[in-house]
Amino acid sequence: MPQRSSLRAWIEVDLEAIAHNLDIVHQAHPDAALMPVVKAEAYGHGLCPVARRLDDCGIDFLGVANVGEARRLLHADIRTRPFILGPSFAHEREEIIQNGWAATISSMEEMEHYEALSAAAGKISSLHLALDTGMGREGFCCTSEDVEPLVDRLAQMPHIHIEGVMSHCPSADEDVAFTQAQIAHFDALTSSISERLPRPLRYRHLAASAGFLGYEAPGTNLLRPGLILYGISPLASVYESLLRPALRLYSRVTLVRELPAGHGVSYGSDFVTTRPTRVATIGIGYADGLSRQLAGKGMQLRIGEHLAPMLGRVTMDQIMADVTDSPDVASGDVVEIIGDHQSAKDLARLRGSIPWEVLTNLGPRLPRLYSPNKGGESQD
Ligand SMILES: *Cc1c(COP(=O)(O)O)cnc(C)c1O
Repeated sequence: MPQRSSLRAWIEVDLEAIAHNLDIVHQAHPDAALMPVVKAEAYGHGLCPVARRLDDCGIDFLGVANVGEARRLLHADIRTRPFILGPSFAHEREEIIQNGWAATISSMEEMEHYEALSAAAGKISSLHLALDTGMGREGFCCTSEDVEPLVDRLAQMPHIHIEGVMSHCPSADEDVAFTQAQIAHFDALTSSISERLPRPLRYRHLAASAGFLGYEAPGTNLLRPGLILYGISPLASVYESLLRPALRLYSRVTLVRELPAGHGVSYGSDFVTTRPTRVATIGIGYADGLSRQLAGKGMQLRIGEHLAPMLGRVTMDQIMADVTDSPDVASGDVVEIIGDHQSAKDLARLRGSIPWEVLTNLGPRLPRLYSPNKGGESQD
C-alpha cells in the first residue's frame, strides 16, 4: 500500500502577485533601478523560487542579508547580482570579491581589507559606501567635513570602485520630520562624495518600502522594496489597494469534538467553555511560527464560509477553535489563517508585532506551494 498523508499546514505563494507588486513600484518610479529584497527566505515566501521569478524582471540587484544567502542564489543559477545588506565577516570578503557580489563598506578597516584582497586577486571590486544617517546599525557616521578624508583615502585605492552610496531610515513609518531631515542629510553627503569621486556615482539609495511610499527622495535612483513586494503596505498610501498579498497560510481540521460547559481548552485552561461547545482541533502551532501571543486576542479562522474564533493557547503543533455555530465542519476541512479574511498585518496587530515578523516567523516545517509552479519546488 502506498503511504499517503494530507498536509496539516502549508503556505501558498502567488509568484505573479510578487511580480505585480514589483511592477507597481516600477511604474511609480520608472527611472529608478530596483533591488527587490529577498532576505530571510524572501520574507518567508521561499528565497529561490521568489528570486527565480524576479530574475528576469529587469532588476539590478537582489537584496540579501548575508553571504550565505548570496551563495544560495549563486547555486540556484540566479543571474541577478546579490546585494549583501548586512556587514560581512573578514573571512567572507574574499568570496564576495571573487563572485562580484555587491557589499557595503562601513569602516576604514573594511575598506583597507577590500582594497588589499582585490589587489591580490587582480580585480576591481564594485562596492557601496554605507552612511549612518540615524539608524545606528551600520555605515560611516559622518558630516560633510568627514567625507573629505574618506574620499581622499579612496582615491589611493585603485582596486575599489564605489558604485553606490546608501543609507537606511529607522523611522520612515513613524517620524516624518526626522525622515525628511535624514533624506536631506543623505542628499548633502552623497553630493559631496560624488563631487570628489573620479567617476560619477551610479547608485544612491535609502528607500525601503516605507521610504518609497511616504517620501520623495529626488537625489536617489535605486529602490529597495521588501514588504511591499509581498503585497503589504507598511503605511496608509495610495498604493495600498493596488498591492496583492502573495502569501496564504492554511491548515486542516484534524478532529472535531463536543465539550461540555465548564471544560478547559488548551494549556493553562485560560479558556473555559461556558456552554456545550464543538471544538475543532487544527494542525498548526507555534512550531510553525504561529505566535503564542495570539492567544485570547480573537484570532479568526476561516473554515469554509464560517469564521471560528481560536480558543485558548497556541500549542506546539495544534490550535483549537470554536465551531459550535458551524455544524458541518469535519476532520480534513481546510482552515485559512492568513488570506482574504485576515492579513499578516491583522495578525501582527493582534499579537502586538509587525507584519515583517509575522511573515518571517513562518517556519520551515510549512511546505511552500507555488503558483504558477514552474520550478517544481518542493510539494511534500
Ligand atoms: C530589509 C531591508 C530593506 C527592505 O525593507 P522593507 O521595509 O521590508 O521594505 C531595505 N533596505 C535594507 C537595508 C534592509 O535591511
